[in-house]
Amino acid sequence: MKVYLDNNATTRLDDEVFKDMVPYLTEYYGNASSLHIFSKETTLAMNNSRETIANILEISPDEFIFTGSGSEADNLAIRGIAKAYKNRGKHIIASPIEHPAIKNTLQDLIDDGYDVTILPVDKNAVVDIKALKDAIRDDTILITVMHANNEVGTFQPIEEIAKIAKENKIIFHVDAVQTMGKVPIKPKEIGIDLLSFSGHKFYGPKGIGGLYWRNGVRFGSILTGGNQENHRRPGTSDVASMVGIASALKKAVSNLKEEFQKEEQLRDYFEDEISKKISEIIVNSKDVKRLPGTSSITFKYLEGESILLSLSVKGIAVSSGSACSSDELQASHVLLAMGIEPKFAHGTIRFSLGKYNTKEEIDYTINTLVEIIERLRNISPLWNEFKNENKERI
Ligand SMILES: *Cc1c(COP(=O)(O)O)cnc(C)c1O
Repeated sequence: MKVYLDNNATTRLDDEVFKDMVPYLTEYYGNASSLHIFSKETTLAMNNSRETIANILEISPDEFIFTGSGSEADNLAIRGIAKAYKNRGKHIIASPIEHPAIKNTLQDLIDDGYDVTILPVDKNAVVDIKALKDAIRDDTILITVMHANNEVGTFQPIEEIAKIAKENKIIFHVDAVQTMGKVPIKPKEIGIDLLSFSGHKFYGPKGIGGLYWRNGVRFGSILTGGNQENHRRPGTSDVASMVGIASALKKAVSNLKEEFQKEEQLRDYFEDEISKKISEIIVNSKDVKRLPGTSSITFKYLEGESILLSLSVKGIAVSSGSACSSDELQASHVLLAMGIEPKFAHGTIRFSLGKYNTKEEIDYTINTLVEIIERLRNISPLWNEFKNENKERI
């Protein structure tokens, strides 16, 4: 059996979405910026896709640009604001659990002389609102906090943050890559100024993202070239992908609630079962509002990589929180920010469910996991040490 439980990394392209894209990969190939007869269909499809997305988000089509990915949308947002507002100030506030597309962009800005305050989060990865209020200064130009975290799934209090940002006349950016297509998002209603997302996280194509940019917020251009995407993201329009991301979003929002509940039920069943069958685990962010399909489990006294590889041999795809940097394995910055001990953080696995997962797949995963954890713990010196010290507990 092959089981894909890495939907937070990417999802399978929906067959219906693919069908919508095909004509724009073959039949209609005219440059959407050209004025001749070969561009009639592509220009129309591009405009329709932009309108579809704008209608869903309840924004104006001229407040939306297509980008090459979620990472690119994040980069354009952070760097575009930093550039446009540098004369007002160089201070930015962020959470410690942002995706590398934000985290490493901020690091680059620090190297360029910007000042970044990283807020603390609690044990469930929820950002500290009081610390946010205290961090605000006269030269603060931007607050960037993600909507829900990709590793543990925790939702952030973006409504509250938006209010604080507005009161202090600070621009607010939200990385909504993990939430778009999973919960309703109306940036204007919430008070978000900039919002990024990505097609391949909700069954659309890879290599296309979107960025909402509220009218009235200035933009410092980062990429230079032609006048596509309101001069903000030059490059010949990838109409097939635009059609794809719009079609995928339309489909995702057509049954948000049902899909959310279905995934959440399956995820909760998974967590209940493995909590009964495997000892010494932590279900991360269990007690707060989280993404329905995300389950981050810390298996104490084990290495995440060995669990991941053992599962992969059995056909099950998951992800570990750790990131390989040169030859050193670094524990996830998200888990560390939550206060999980580094020695346990290394034993964390993210299971991320999606709309194609079935109960049979989850049952297979539970059984396989129980076997693997038992086998790995039997040969783990840390586990045996723990067992000897706690004989009566196990
Ligand atoms: C996947 C992801 C990104 C990056 O999106 P890409 O389209 O893969 O570049 C950014 N932020 C979050 C929270 C993500 O999960």
